[in-house]
Amino acid sequence: MTWRPPVDDIVFTLTRIAGAAPGRGEPGAAIVEADVRAVLDEVGRLCAERVAPLDRDADRVGAAWHDGRVTTPAGFRDAYRAWCAGGWNGVALPEAWGGAGLPTLVGTAVMELLTGACMAFATLPVLTQAAAECLDAHADDALKARYLPPLVAGTWTASMNLTEPQAGSDLGLVRCRAEPIDGGRYRVTGSKVFITFGAHDLAETIVHLVLARLPEAPEGSRGLSLLLVPQRLPADDGGLGDDNAVHCVGIEKKLGLNGSPTCALRFEGAVGWLVGRPHHGLAAMFTMMNKARLATGLQGVAMAEKATQKAAAFALERRQGRAPEATGGGSAAGGSTSAAGRAGPVPIAAHPDVARTLARMKALTAAARALAYAAAAAIDAAAHDAGSAGAARAGFLTPVVKAFATEIGCEVASLGIQIHGGAGYIEETGAAQLWRDVRVAPIYEGTNAIQAIDLVTRKLPLDGGAEAAAIATLCRADIAAAADALGPAATARLGAAVAALERASRQLLDPAMPAPARLTVASDYLRLVGIAVGGALLARGAAGDDGDERGDDGGATAQAGRLARVFAEDVAGDAVGLAERIAAADRRLDDYRALAGLG
Ligand SMILES: Cc1cc2nc3c(=O)[nH]c(=O)nc-3n(C[C@H](O)[C@H](O)[C@H](O)COP(=O)(O)OP(=O)(O)OC[C@H]3O[C@@H](n4cnc5c(N)ncnc54)[C@H](O)[C@@H]3O)c2cc1C
Repeated sequence: MTWRPPVDDIVFTLTRIAGAAPGRGEPGAAIVEADVRAVLDEVGRLCAERVAPLDRDADRVGAAWHDGRVTTPAGFRDAYRAWCAGGWNGVALPEAWGGAGLPTLVGTAVMELLTGACMAFATLPVLTQAAAECLDAHADDALKARYLPPLVAGTWTASMNLTEPQAGSDLGLVRCRAEPIDGGRYRVTGSKVFITFGAHDLAETIVHLVLARLPEAPEGSRGLSLLLVPQRLPADDGGLGDDNAVHCVGIEKKLGLNGSPTCALRFEGAVGWLVGRPHHGLAAMFTMMNKARLATGLQGVAMAEKATQKAAAFALERRQGRAPEATGGGSAAGGSTSAAGRAGPVPIAAHPDVARTLARMKALTAAARALAYAAAAAIDAAAHDAGSAGAARAGFLTPVVKAFATEIGCEVASLGIQIHGGAGYIEETGAAQLWRDVRVAPIYEGTNAIQAIDLVTRKLPLDGGAEAAAIATLCRADIAAAADALGPAATARLGAAVAALERASRQLLDPAMPAPARLTVASDYLRLVGIAVGGALLARGAAGDDGDERGDDGGATAQAGRLARVFAEDVAGDAVGLAERIAAADRRLDDYRALAGLG
């Protein structure tokens, strides 16, 4: 089955759910459906024709390391050239540096398509775009002028260097050092591990953004500085000069994402330049990390979509058993062909359990997509008007998108395997690859537990929980506006999820709640937010659904109504249980600690 760029679904989410957002540099300009569709059709073609065909070999052959050099799978170079030549790398980056300056919403849609075509390939532009945003926000003018134009064009790429063997979630343990030399330059020494596209053969050079410690830096994460370390030093004539002292000493063998090289890098006194202020590197790096976190959530969306497309196609082709109508309720596979003269075998989609599973996959995917684009719209709102609610909304939603959407990516990819039966467990169908590839998404860019802790301990308490309260109010309005389309049962379920969110927010904001209890249920709260807000956003898309399949929109609203009702009835019911768990958090702490072997 061939992956199909889900342009219609993205355009619907963009225009009907996330809302038109002001274009950067063009105050008041709204996203026009026809324009955005034209953009997505074009990039969708590139992704389908040039990138998607590389996905299987990206997995089977993967990237290779030999003698310090990394080669990417065959076809990556040509596809990457086509990506850059089309100007897609800079589609949502500032025009001042050669980008198209389109809203983050559109950039998000472009990256969803590229990721769906080949997640491993897409990890390279993600990091380059995130680094460009970081430099644009924090670097001095000289660094911007030298590095931003080629990064925006994609002729140079970037890597993000946080992790060290002893420093993963806890970046306060970073040991990499940066010693001043002259003229604002530093010598960077140390080892970084797990660096995505830290070495490769796709671009002229690589710009490493590195967290390191200056001499006499304070201990912990407050003592980190951000250094730009180019793989090739600037030559006197402004071109690319000698190699810098950065070496790729190996790449990891992984569960999936094999086309994306995960590199161990050694910095041996490599020359670098400070980005931003000394000891404020983590704050600067957060510009890059936030962008990458959203992009990681989007990986969950894109892979859920791909798994769903594959499973849906398989479920219409694969024939087993009889339709329930023909058997009076039973449809045992073993009996499918034995009963002489009776109808069968039928496509497995005809079995209610398979149909339900497919519907769940579609509803989860749609909710994750709605959340990701809602966060992108909030980023656009903040960029357009710093005083708007956009910044707080984007800050609140970013960890939710990262964690909730990546969990959905894994769940849906796993359900996709299940729908394939035994064929899903063998590699031939490609269903297993999707799960292997996306399985890293809840781990990297800050594990999902770290996202949940960020949400509960930093984002939720801001302004006494104002953003959580504001979001809940919006959710209620969306659900009320869609009540006719949803019907009473689904309306009640979604309303109960929002009420559960409000209760849980109040409990977590209560200073009397012990800190360990709050941390214990942080992941439950994040999921609760994802369910309540995701459900309300689907309701927003469903408003106006009158069951008309042949309406002006080709049945898109009717489809949105179905997705919202399925999400409400099959997923949103979990919200009440999550809220109950949050309310009883401290009751189970002793059991948890004992079962973890802590005595
Ligand atoms: C394929 C791949 C690509 C990557 N690319 C990059 C990259 O480009 N750049 C880069 O810098 N890094 C990269 N990473 C590293 C990645 O970001 C880290 O693996 C991740 O941050 C987790 O760190 P860790 O592996 O050391 O796990 P640990 O921090 O050791 O965590 C282990 C477990 O403990 C939990 N845990 C740890 N601390 C806490 C806490 N305070 N509260 C609750 N739970 C906690 C975690 O959630 C996790 O379940 C990549 C990793 C992979 C696998």
